[in-house]
Amino acid sequence: APLIHFENVGLRYGMGPEVLRDLTFDIPRRSFQFLTGPSGAGKSTLLRLLFLSLQPTRGLIRTFDRNIATIPREELPMLRRRIGIVFQDFRLLEHLTTYENVALPLRVRGKDELSYRADVIDLLKWVGLGERINVLPPVLSGGEKQRAAIARALIDRPELLLADEPTGNVDPPMARRLLSLFLELNRLGTAVVIATHDLSLMDQVDARRMILSQGRLDIYE
Ligand code: ADP
Ligand code: ADP
Repeated sequence: APLIHFENVGLRYGMGPEVLRDLTFDIPRRSFQFLTGPSGAGKSTLLRLLFLSLQPTRGLIRTFDRNIATIPREELPMLRRRIGIVFQDFRLLEHLTTYENVALPLRVRGKDELSYRADVIDLLKWVGLGERINVLPPVLSGGEKQRAAIARALIDRPELLLADEPTGNVDPPMARRLLSLFLELNRLGTAVVIATHDLSLMDQVDARRMILSQGRLDIYE
């Protein structure tokens, strides 16, 4: 089964119009895709559905083979742990070091620091932040903050990584570096969805494209 399956999914906010209409698609295991479309087309909304932070107003979503409409609320955090998300505005905690930000998801679950300290440091080295482990986010550049946010999303080894405009705040060389990181992660087995407006980024890889327009989705394999 695919990681995620959408069938005739529609979404409206309150009494407003449907902002997503009749979405039917899969996110296969180990796949790599861009999600694109004009501003207001529904990309953020679709990411929220994929992250299980929003329920569809109609249709079926299966996530890791579970119908999300029937999952008890208290089980959602456990499923969400299998999905990493990188927000456009990073959402790093400013009073915590890079290391502490990345370790936070494990710490809040009450894990013993001895069991994860080396993993956090290895991951920070992998994203190129080996020299920035003990600094606070305000000291980091845009590209470094982005990589810290990526590391935090990866610390639980998710099966799916969602990234919202990950190259929105970095220069072209850093954008290429981030893209190589996502591709490498994908080679290691993680499915990746990158929401982006950045045509030059998409031109660098021959990847699946999910294009939203006026709430409808077209997929180019
Ligand atoms: P994109 O990320 O592609 O710019 P969004 O998913 O943010 O698109 O928005 C799609 C549509 O849904 C837009 O018309 C937007 O104004 C509307 N929308 C997004 N979030 C909300 C919300 N919380 N309440 C009401 N309307 C919303
Ligand atoms: P971006 O396109 O940068 O991802 P959005 O414009 O989609 O950001 O939305 C920013 C925030 O504003 C989101 O939390 C979204 O839910 C909210 N929002 C967007 N459009 C509306 C709307 N029409 N009504 C209410 N909230 C909205």
